[in-house]
Amino acid sequence: MTQCLPAVGPAARRPTRQAKVVWGDTVVRVGGDAPVVVQSMTNTDTADAIATAIQVKELALAGSEIVRITVNTPEAAQAIVAIREQLDRMGVSVPLCGDFHFNGHKLLTQFPECAQALSKYRINPGNMGGGKRRDDNFAQMIEVACRHNKPVRIGVNWGSLDQELLARMMDENQQRAVPLDAQAVMRDALVVSAISNAERAQQLGLPGDAIVLSCKVSHVQDLIAVYRDLSARCDYPLHLGLTEAGMGTKGVVASTAALAVLLQEGIGDTIRISLTPEPGGDRCREVVVAQEILQTMGLRAFTPMVIACPGCGRTTSTVFQELADDIQRYLREQMPVWRTQYPGVESMNVAVMGCVVNGPGESRHADIGISLPGTGEVPAAPVYVDGVRTVTLKGDRIAEEFQVIVQNYIEK
Ligand code: SF4
Repeated sequence: MTQCLPAVGPAARRPTRQAKVVWGDTVVRVGGDAPVVVQSMTNTDTADAIATAIQVKELALAGSEIVRITVNTPEAAQAIVAIREQLDRMGVSVPLCGDFHFNGHKLLTQFPECAQALSKYRINPGNMGGGKRRDDNFAQMIEVACRHNKPVRIGVNWGSLDQELLARMMDENQQRAVPLDAQAVMRDALVVSAISNAERAQQLGLPGDAIVLSCKVSHVQDLIAVYRDLSARCDYPLHLGLTEAGMGTKGVVASTAALAVLLQEGIGDTIRISLTPEPGGDRCREVVVAQEILQTMGLRAFTPMVIACPGCGRTTSTVFQELADDIQRYLREQMPVWRTQYPGVESMNVAVMGCVVNGPGESRHADIGISLPGTGEVPAAPVYVDGVRTVTLKGDRIAEEFQVIVQNYIEK
């Protein structure tokens, strides 16, 4: 009797509308049947147009498909046009999203060139003032978006939640027979804020397919609960991200833990990994982490993956770790060129293994693999191409010779 096994893989993506983020001929689709989009954010002073354009270029080359920029002062708003011109001169067509808080209504109105040079606006309804002032400021920003035909992300944040809304919902909660705990009311308030502001934006004339929503919080379980609720209550595309995820491995692990659960459930149309950069750290790391989450989950492919064993007492040298690291770096560096020259190369797997225990097996499963000699083994490294053992490398130039084999494989 055959046994039915559960299907393996992420759930079907949640059906959503599709927003288009456009610059020139570059159209990034968010939601609907589009792949999950990777985005990132600069941390330069936006008023420094050259430094910001350089960082945008780096993020775009690393694979960021939309780059968000803080627009917080008149100087920053004025610099947006210069940044866009610099990028266009450098041949970088990545769409820019302006990140507005507090004074976005003024900046977008006073600097129409900035409003036009941006491809998308991020609006935080929690920090536009209160009462009628908030309503007017929000309406002003939506009116600019409609005039320039730009999509908007309504980005609600735990740290800047609309206090009037929260107070009202807390009061209503007290009227319940069994009040919810305060954390649950806050989660609900985030979702209500995002959806009610999206509906208001539509009433003001913004098309429903020009709206993306986010509800960011800094704790994994809260984020999962909020996005499950949000996705059940609307069909706008969703921007996922754990805000203030933190530094180093903590930020990577927390973001991955939260986003992987949601993506597995088909929730999420664009992601940003908010890592606190270490001093002198590489801003592009957040792009690499975002890509690796999507690729390891089988949702997208960006760069050939290197499968490497962790090493153990059977390896007394670090040759194989260095080789794995070198190969991964080399493949990543080549991707901006290879992506256009060798379509499909991003789906390739390369195995670099430390000894005969799992080396030959993993190497056969990869497109190309090498099983380096462990302690006490014959000093020879068999290479497998498309599952077939092709050559055995020996001597002290194994790493260099294997890199050449990888290169030749990709070029052919
Ligand atoms: Fe250790 Fe060999 Fe396994 Fe690598 S493949 S972890 S070296 S036993």
